[in-house]
Amino acid sequence: MIKQILLFIDSDRTTWNMNPDLLRETLEKRAKLGKLPKAVVIVHLYGQSADIDPILAACLEYEVPLVEDAAESLGATYKDKSPGIFGKIGIFSFNGNKIITTSGGGMLVSDDRNIVEKARFLATQARDPAPHYQHSVVGYNYRLSNVLAGIGRGQLRVLEERVNARRHNFEVYQQALGKLPGIEFMPEADFGRATRWLTCLTIDPAAFGADREQVRLELGKQKIEARPVWKPLHLQPVFAECESIGGAISEDLFDRGLCLPSGSNLTAEDLERVINAIDGIYIR
Ligand SMILES: *Cc1c(COP(=O)(O)O)cnc(C)c1O
Repeated sequence: MIKQILLFIDSDRTTWNMNPDLLRETLEKRAKLGKLPKAVVIVHLYGQSADIDPILAACLEYEVPLVEDAAESLGATYKDKSPGIFGKIGIFSFNGNKIITTSGGGMLVSDDRNIVEKARFLATQARDPAPHYQHSVVGYNYRLSNVLAGIGRGQLRVLEERVNARRHNFEVYQQALGKLPGIEFMPEADFGRATRWLTCLTIDPAAFGADREQVRLELGKQKIEARPVWKPLHLQPVFAECESIGGAISEDLFDRGLCLPSGSNLTAEDLERVINAIDGIYIR
């Protein structure tokens, strides 16, 4: 169990990512207590960037480094730039379920040469500069192999196609289902482009006539895999003893949120099958 080390900040209703106002209030309170965190970590979920400017401004004001988890947002934009390049460190994932993949592994970016060199050192077994394999600190084998890097370079060329395919899925779903009472699709914030890596929506059971779980299970019966949106970290058993600020928004999104099949290779028939299944659950 992880205790007291982490403090979780609630999400924002429009971006579904970290609420910048809550972050600022929290940093202000923490600064008064003399207990500022070592870093702020933001996650750009489901292909949409968090609202980075106010988050970065708060971090700069309180001199807390910002780390961006951009694993789900490669191909997205924040004011015409890529999320992941604003913080002290950004990370990307090329795991098999991401918009482009090398089968496994990822990428760390920073404009601070010292950080990049330190990361490379730790990721390649922390060898001291000696000819006889000497270690003064513990390192790891986190290398992306050159073969996988080669695959990644090939994948980068199809990133834009993948973004278009994911956005197309979203548009087809939204056009067909967006008018059903109780269905609300994840909003796209006006500061940039979301990739719609996953198409997510929320279901209001009173208006729709079935709740998220009923819909998910019914889709399952029809051999369509849909999933709840990510479980908020403050509800994870491993973090049960950590502090959290707010939580009602992320809990509500988790209660009512559903991720639809979102692969880049879905056909028009696949999409139609999912749409008909959901439409069939709605009680008219
Ligand atoms: C996939 C993912 C990760 C993990 O990436 P790996 O390359 O599988 O370690 C981390 N954060 C987010 C938000 C992700 O979606």
